[in-house]
Amino acid sequence: MTLFLLGLLLFAVVVLIALFVRAGEEEDKEKPHEDEQQRASSMRPLLLGINYLLADAPDRALRAFIEAARMHGDAAEIYMALGEMFRARGEYMRAVRIHQNLLARPDLDEEQRFRAAWALAQDFHKGGFFDRALRQYERVLQMRPDYAPAVEACLRIREDAGEWDEALKLLDRWQRITNEDASRHRAYLLAQKAWEALGRDAHERAQALAQEALKVDASCALARLVRLRLLLAGREKASLATSLQDWRAHAPQTLAVALAELARTGEEEIRQEVRNWLGACVKNNEAQEDWVLAWLEHEPPADARRDAKAWGFRPKSLRGWLRLLAATREDEDGAFARRWRAQAPDWRCSECGVEVREVRWRCPQCHAWGTMRPLEEEACAQG
Ligand SMILES: [Zn+2]
Repeated sequence: MTLFLLGLLLFAVVVLIALFVRAGEEEDKEKPHEDEQQRASSMRPLLLGINYLLADAPDRALRAFIEAARMHGDAAEIYMALGEMFRARGEYMRAVRIHQNLLARPDLDEEQRFRAAWALAQDFHKGGFFDRALRQYERVLQMRPDYAPAVEACLRIREDAGEWDEALKLLDRWQRITNEDASRHRAYLLAQKAWEALGRDAHERAQALAQEALKVDASCALARLVRLRLLLAGREKASLATSLQDWRAHAPQTLAVALAELARTGEEEIRQEVRNWLGACVKNNEAQEDWVLAWLEHEPPADARRDAKAWGFRPKSLRGWLRLLAATREDEDGAFARRWRAQAPDWRCSECGVEVREVRWRCPQCHAWGTMRPLEEEACAQG
């Protein structure tokens, strides 16, 4: 049994005993002459259950606890604690059974019923039963229409499934409830639709959606990427320099994505244009290491060397130097730097700090949109 699991079990045991004792005391106040023997007998299945838990026999433990809860008048809290514990252990079906049992009890008050319904929805969600989770979250929202965490949970399920229209509706609802600014989130959902339209070669639709996304939030990098691809396909009239200029003005943190895209897919004429644009930036001393390095890394080493030299580019950080070495040197130092480069993450979520190699529009850990930023020097020192 892992330490984590053991900790959980101990926590559960403490909670159960505390609840039982508290419930017992309340009972005592009402009935001061309660038969001690009866109390002791109602403790027995509880202790048995704890024993089973510690012996890693959760099914038997569950039966014992249900028995304990049945014998005890005020058992809802025991059920709740048990359900939470099983969900935390990843035993979702057991958690579901407990919460369903609880919801079937006629003696629950309104607050307990709400908590059990919310817990059951989370069991389904965590267990991967997304349709059932959605239905259960809907029931929670019937009880409390302004319960933002339930709307948020539905939104996450729709986003995971790529159901952007449903997600947009839920985001509107969430915004109405919380009154918080959701423009960046909204822009990214629209941009996802644009991205899919682009994948279907529905260029006009993609253009319109990307435009709409940028109107909502000009820093939406995914919408800018859609427009850049349309430009490369000859479907957008803006010039490349204007497009890059705009990107740098509104979303400088992700300009490296644009440059990598252009270096990878652009024809020679386009590449020359970017090279000139970047050269001008470096000379104006406005360049950020990431943009230039993203470009150099996609050049053949000889070209990257030539560009770096022509621009007088000197990285300011150790991380930058290693990336430059990896991109331009063919000797042993270059090979060392390339080995480092092959596994070093490049992006970090500004919300939760998770580090990833490729940029993600939605953080894989905290699910926030548009929060990835290029990793900077201090992260390199730590890593
Ligand atoms: Zn995050």
